[in-house]
Amino acid sequence: MSEPSGDCPLCPRLAAFRSECRSREPGWHNAPVPAFGSADARLLIVGLAPGLRGANATGRPFTGDYAGDLLYRTLIDFGFATGEYRARPDDGLRLQDCRITNAVRCVPPKNKPEPAEITQCRPFLEGVIAGMPRLSSILVLGQIAHQSTVRALGEKASRVPFRHGGEVPIGRVILVSSYHCSRYNTNTGVLTEAMFRDVFARIRALVA
Ligand code: URA
Repeated sequence: MSEPSGDCPLCPRLAAFRSECRSREPGWHNAPVPAFGSADARLLIVGLAPGLRGANATGRPFTGDYAGDLLYRTLIDFGFATGEYRARPDDGLRLQDCRITNAVRCVPPKNKPEPAEITQCRPFLEGVIAGMPRLSSILVLGQIAHQSTVRALGEKASRVPFRHGGEVPIGRVILVSSYHCSRYNTNTGVLTEAMFRDVFARIRALVA
């Protein structure tokens, strides 16, 4: 199974937070955010979790989140998306040979999922991966997405340490790892736009 139900009860803390968000902002999505893009894609991008006022509000991964500005701009530049990104799910942007999901589907308080929540949500990540017959590369954004994806691929996280720009074959896919394109990482210079573009240049070569 690749998508949790709209009222997924598996993580009580996240379900309680979702209820709070529904009362405060009834017009928002406030539910697990499903993967975006075709299951036929060769590239899967795995982020951390929906941002409160971004993906949790719009219902599309990274959409409306600060991190989405850099991610979608880069996807368009490298031919993995067409159209215009206007930070809303009806902007008409289309992913090309690319799909985007998150390690945790529900917005976590303070943007920080707990280890048990990451584990609880992993079967849905496994489901997304299993449902992509042409998948050849996975780009993980940040250490948490990296570890959860390594485990979802059936490998021990300790065997595949996170490294920005790292590239490791696991089973049928090549796992490419990048620092997360979060506001914190870009504002502090941990990840520059040039570094992120270098990662995408490599992915474009892998998914040629
Ligand atoms: N928005 C998402 O959907 N995922 C992230 O990892 C960050 C922002």
